[in-house]
Amino acid sequence: MKKGKLLVFSAPSGSGKTTIVRHLLAQADLNLEFSISAATRAPRGQEIDGKDYYFISIEDFKKHIKTEDFIEWEEVYRDNFYGTLRSEVERIWALGKNVIFDIDVAGGLRIKRKFPEETLAVFVKPPSIDELKIRLKKRSTESEDKINMRIAKASVELATAPQFDKIIKNYDLDIAKEEAYLLVKDFLKD
Ligand code: 5GP
Repeated sequence: MKKGKLLVFSAPSGSGKTTIVRHLLAQADLNLEFSISAATRAPRGQEIDGKDYYFISIEDFKKHIKTEDFIEWEEVYRDNFYGTLRSEVERIWALGKNVIFDIDVAGGLRIKRKFPEETLAVFVKPPSIDELKIRLKKRSTESEDKINMRIAKASVELATAPQFDKIIKNYDLDIAKEEAYLLVKDFLKD
């Protein structure tokens, strides 16, 4: 199978990376397909199984770990497992497309390590932890407890930014989207 490229977008929850990834997916010239992760949490809001995530039980997730089906996986929050199935990347490459990932920083760096030539790893930086808090509260899809858990993790994640190929500062979403587009376009050209 001909390998396509891998575009990893990682950031603390609430940094705007999902919006940026959606924007890139809408640009037909980039020929991107979203890597649907397996996850053990319950669907939120309008999320659809097989589109946003493959929602599976913890039991099934652990079976996939045992049979080494994951390229990477993480217990991102306690009892919330997320992972990239090898079959997902193969599915997208078989379509002749490039894969775009919206995953946490540890997973993103792991993909970069596994596929150093094929991967562009981008870190999306929020303006500040305070701003992140405001954004997560506005989204109001999680309980106060869960928001605090995400904020605590964000500080640790911010420290990993220098390990990424590129950093996008998301102070202004339109500028960040355009910056992301140009980075990806440039990476895909060779
Ligand atoms: P959420 O619950 O908000 O959808 O995602 C929580 C975090 O898990 C986000 O940072 C998201 O990017 C990350 N995530 C989603 N899928 C994967 C995956 O397959 N692997 C890893 N390592 N993290 C993931």
